[in-house]
Amino acid sequence: MKKLAALALFFFVISIQAQTKKASTSPLPRVIILATGGTIAGSGASSTEAAYTAGKIPIENLLNAVPEIHQIAQIKGEQIAQIGSQDMNIATWLKLSQRINELFEKDEVDAVVLTHGTDTLEETAYFLSLTIASDKPVVLVGAMRPATAMSQDGNRNLLDAVMVAADQKSIGHGVVVAMNESVYAARDVTKTNTTNMATFQSRNFGPIGLIFDGKVNYYYKSIRNSAQKFDVSQRKTLPKVAIVYGYADATSSAIEAAIKDGAQGIVYAGMGNGNYNEAVGKALITASKNNILICRSARAGAGQVTLFNEVDDAALGFVVADDLNPQKARILLMLALTKTNDKKKIQDYFLKY
Ligand code: ASP
Repeated sequence: MKKLAALALFFFVISIQAQTKKASTSPLPRVIILATGGTIAGSGASSTEAAYTAGKIPIENLLNAVPEIHQIAQIKGEQIAQIGSQDMNIATWLKLSQRINELFEKDEVDAVVLTHGTDTLEETAYFLSLTIASDKPVVLVGAMRPATAMSQDGNRNLLDAVMVAADQKSIGHGVVVAMNESVYAARDVTKTNTTNMATFQSRNFGPIGLIFDGKVNYYYKSIRNSAQKFDVSQRKTLPKVAIVYGYADATSSAIEAAIKDGAQGIVYAGMGNGNYNEAVGKALITASKNNILICRSARAGAGQVTLFNEVDDAALGFVVADDLNPQKARILLMLALTKTNDKKKIQDYFLKY
């Protein structure tokens, strides 16, 4: 009996050893870091001066500064652009989307980390979330302090972003932003503070996950944030859509200028629940009659813009942005206009995507 027990124990230990060996030899996930510049690659004259130039430090140096990432994943780096994200543009969005889709299609990587300036990071994140055809993780990351600053946040943010990308739990969440120990759905996140490190927030819904000590825990899943909605693989440009800001005593001049500039759509960043004054209202109605797609959004920063509140959208031919902020509503409207001019369909996109 004793012999049998000893034999059983022997096989138990052998099997545990085999499992541990298998786990430790299974290859690390393949993560590519696509770099576009921004403050995370920014360089200043000294560690304490506020002045710096975004997009100076090449991807190799960023990776060398955080050797810990190599313990989490098999890392490759690729420099896609080297700009401050205030200069982000449609051509670079299309290039990024096409490159990421290609990497996933060819099964060259398990996840993507995208380093990016914080100014327009939310716009790139939302654009990618609407156009990437994979449920593999795509994680955007930036920094509020340049790489040369004292207490810079870029290195830790980059390490966290790689960890989030490499974690199996991130599969299926869609494109996310990992900044300042939090994970946000691309669709919902926005930059809320000009200089503070806790700038990124999702004002309506909060973060979907929290990061601490090299681990991510998820608490929520955005039901609207994943699955490709638009195929931009063959596109070289997008329909022109302008944003016009609402304010007390505004005139119609910005709307007229947008139309003159060839806008096919106008996102109006309205007061309160997407409201406008008489002068702006007249110009928007005329534009709508001339087949320019008008989307009412809000400058308030949180909440939804609701149909038929103070404005009869159906009668005027307007659509509403739901809870998308004006800069994200513009992205959805540009993509929507690649497919249709049908106002009902476009409204449907805004209420579902
Ligand atoms: N202007 C910079 C950029 O967006 C700011 C930053 O990255 O924090 O590239």
